[in-house]
Amino acid sequence: MKTDKREIERRMWGFEQVCRSAGVKLTHQRVEIFRQVAQTSDHPDAEMVYRGVRKRIPTMSLDTVYRALWLLGDLGLITTLGPRRGRTRFDANLRRHHHFVCRRCGLTRDFYGDAFDELRLPKSVRTIGSVETTHVEARGVCGKCAKKEEAELKRKKKKKERNP
Ligand SMILES: [Zn+2]
Ligand SMILES: [Zn+2]
Repeated sequence: MKTDKREIERRMWGFEQVCRSAGVKLTHQRVEIFRQVAQTSDHPDAEMVYRGVRKRIPTMSLDTVYRALWLLGDLGLITTLGPRRGRTRFDANLRRHHHFVCRRCGLTRDFYGDAFDELRLPKSVRTIGSVETTHVEARGVCGKCAKKEEAELKRKKKKKERNP
Protein backbone atom coordinates (compact mmCIF):
# COMPACT_ATOMS: atom_id res chain seq x y z
CA MET A 1 0.00 0.00 0.00
CA LYS A 2 1.31 3.44 -0.95
CA THR A 3 1.99 5.99 1.76
CA ASP A 4 0.13 9.29 1.62
CA LYS A 5 2.03 11.78 -0.60
CA ARG A 6 2.44 14.43 2.06
CA GLU A 7 3.69 11.83 4.52
CA ILE A 8 6.30 10.65 2.00
CA GLU A 9 7.48 14.24 1.57
CA ARG A 10 7.65 14.66 5.34
CA ARG A 11 9.72 11.49 5.65
CA MET A 12 12.05 12.52 2.82
CA TRP A 13 12.54 15.89 4.48
CA GLY A 14 13.33 14.24 7.82
CA PHE A 15 15.75 11.92 6.08
CA GLU A 16 17.65 14.84 4.52
CA GLN A 17 17.81 16.71 7.83
CA VAL A 18 19.12 13.72 9.77
CA CYS A 19 21.70 12.82 7.11
CA ARG A 20 22.94 16.41 6.93
CA SER A 21 23.34 16.80 10.67
CA ALA A 22 25.03 13.38 10.93
CA GLY A 23 27.40 14.23 8.07
CA VAL A 24 26.11 11.35 5.96
CA LYS A 25 26.32 11.97 2.23
CA LEU A 26 22.98 12.19 0.45
CA THR A 27 23.91 9.95 -2.45
CA HIS A 28 21.36 9.22 -5.15
CA GLN A 29 21.40 5.57 -4.12
CA ARG A 30 20.70 6.27 -0.45
CA VAL A 31 17.90 8.68 -1.35
CA GLU A 32 16.23 6.09 -3.56
CA ILE A 33 16.66 3.29 -1.02
CA PHE A 34 15.09 5.39 1.72
CA ARG A 35 12.29 6.47 -0.64
CA GLN A 36 11.51 2.84 -1.37
CA VAL A 37 10.90 2.15 2.32
CA ALA A 38 9.22 5.51 2.98
CA GLN A 39 6.67 5.27 0.19
CA THR A 40 5.05 2.05 1.30
CA SER A 41 3.32 0.65 4.34
CA ASP A 42 4.36 -2.86 3.32
CA HIS A 43 7.31 -3.08 5.74
CA PRO A 44 9.52 -4.52 3.00
CA ASP A 45 12.54 -6.71 3.55
CA ALA A 46 15.89 -5.94 1.88
CA GLU A 47 15.11 -8.05 -1.20
CA MET A 48 11.85 -6.23 -1.79
CA VAL A 49 13.58 -2.87 -1.43
CA TYR A 50 16.25 -4.07 -3.84
CA ARG A 51 13.72 -5.15 -6.46
CA GLY A 52 11.91 -1.81 -6.22
CA VAL A 53 15.01 0.38 -6.41
CA ARG A 54 16.47 -1.60 -9.31
CA LYS A 55 13.60 -0.43 -11.48
CA ARG A 56 14.98 3.10 -11.11
CA ILE A 57 18.68 2.27 -10.70
CA PRO A 58 19.48 -0.93 -12.62
CA THR A 59 23.11 -0.93 -11.43
CA MET A 60 22.09 -1.13 -7.76
CA SER A 61 23.50 -4.12 -5.87
CA LEU A 62 21.80 -6.01 -3.06
CA ASP A 63 24.87 -5.43 -0.94
CA THR A 64 24.49 -1.66 -1.30
CA VAL A 65 20.85 -1.95 -0.30
CA TYR A 66 21.74 -3.90 2.83
CA ARG A 67 24.45 -1.46 3.83
CA ALA A 68 22.20 1.55 3.26
CA LEU A 69 19.33 0.00 5.22
CA TRP A 70 21.50 -0.72 8.24
CA LEU A 71 22.94 2.79 8.03
CA LEU A 72 19.42 4.25 7.97
CA GLY A 73 18.60 2.08 10.96
CA ASP A 74 21.64 3.36 12.86
CA LEU A 75 20.55 6.92 12.09
CA GLY A 76 17.13 6.15 13.56
CA LEU A 77 15.38 6.81 10.25
CA ILE A 78 13.89 3.37 9.97
CA THR A 79 13.12 0.65 12.46
CA THR A 80 13.39 -3.06 11.96
CA LEU A 81 10.85 -5.81 12.43
CA GLY A 82 11.27 -9.46 12.70
CA PRO A 83 13.17 -11.62 12.17
CA ARG A 84 10.31 -13.21 10.37
CA ARG A 85 11.58 -16.36 8.67
CA GLY A 86 15.03 -14.91 9.18
CA ARG A 87 14.24 -11.89 7.07
CA THR A 88 14.38 -8.49 8.67
CA ARG A 89 11.80 -6.00 7.51
CA PHE A 90 12.12 -2.25 7.47
CA ASP A 91 9.72 0.46 8.58
CA ALA A 92 10.01 4.21 7.90
CA ASN A 93 7.02 5.13 10.04
CA LEU A 94 8.59 6.77 13.08
CA ARG A 95 5.29 7.68 14.73
CA ARG A 96 4.42 5.53 17.72
CA HIS A 97 2.46 2.68 16.22
CA HIS A 98 1.56 -0.99 16.40
CA HIS A 99 1.36 -3.79 13.90
CA PHE A 100 -1.20 -6.12 12.48
CA VAL A 101 0.52 -9.19 11.04
CA CYS A 102 -1.22 -11.77 8.89
CA ARG A 103 -0.12 -15.27 9.89
CA ARG A 104 -0.72 -16.56 6.36
CA CYS A 105 0.90 -14.08 4.00
CA GLY A 106 2.92 -11.94 6.40
CA LEU A 107 1.12 -8.73 5.44
CA THR A 108 2.10 -6.12 8.01
CA ARG A 109 0.14 -2.93 8.54
CA ASP A 110 0.44 -0.10 11.04
CA PHE A 111 -2.28 0.87 13.44
CA TYR A 112 -2.50 3.49 16.15
CA GLY A 113 -3.99 3.35 19.62
CA ASP A 114 -3.39 5.59 22.62
CA ALA A 115 -4.27 2.83 25.06
CA PHE A 116 -1.53 0.61 23.62
CA ASP A 117 1.01 3.43 23.76
CA GLU A 118 0.50 3.60 27.52
CA LEU A 119 0.87 -0.10 28.23
CA ARG A 120 3.17 -0.76 31.15
CA LEU A 121 5.37 -3.80 31.21
CA PRO A 122 5.52 -5.92 34.35
CA LYS A 123 8.67 -5.62 36.46
CA SER A 124 9.49 -9.24 35.71
CA VAL A 125 10.59 -8.19 32.23
CA ARG A 126 13.63 -6.54 33.82
CA THR A 127 14.99 -9.93 34.80
CA ILE A 128 15.12 -10.78 31.10
CA GLY A 129 16.80 -7.62 29.93
CA SER A 130 16.42 -3.88 29.45
CA VAL A 131 13.57 -2.74 27.25
CA GLU A 132 14.15 -0.10 24.61
CA THR A 133 10.81 0.05 22.84
CA THR A 134 7.47 -1.64 23.19
CA HIS A 135 4.84 -2.23 20.60
CA VAL A 136 1.81 -4.40 20.24
CA GLU A 137 1.61 -7.01 17.53
CA ALA A 138 -1.85 -8.20 16.62
CA ARG A 139 -1.73 -11.49 14.76
CA GLY A 140 -4.50 -12.78 12.61
CA VAL A 141 -5.66 -13.27 9.07
CA CYS A 142 -5.89 -10.36 6.65
CA GLY A 143 -9.01 -9.72 4.57
CA LYS A 144 -7.56 -11.27 1.42
CA CYS A 145 -6.40 -14.41 3.19
CA ALA A 146 -9.69 -14.71 5.08
CA LYS A 147 -11.47 -14.86 1.71
CA LYS A 148 -9.01 -17.49 0.50
CA GLU A 149 -9.53 -19.57 3.65
CA GLU A 150 -13.26 -19.37 3.18
CA ALA A 151 -12.97 -20.52 -0.43
CA GLU A 152 -10.70 -23.39 0.61
CA LEU A 153 -13.16 -24.50 3.27
CA LYS A 154 -15.98 -24.46 0.74
CA ARG A 155 -13.92 -26.50 -1.71
CA LYS A 156 -13.10 -29.08 0.97
CA LYS A 157 -16.74 -29.29 1.95
CA LYS A 158 -17.80 -29.88 -1.64
CA LYS A 159 -15.15 -32.58 -2.02
CA LYS A 160 -16.47 -34.33 1.07
CA GLU A 161 -20.00 -34.16 -0.26
CA ARG A 162 -18.90 -35.68 -3.54
CA ASN A 163 -16.81 -38.46 -1.96
CA PRO A 164 -18.27 -39.12 1.46
ZN1 LIG B 1 -2.81 -12.39 4.53
ZN1 LIG C 1 5.12 -0.20 11.12
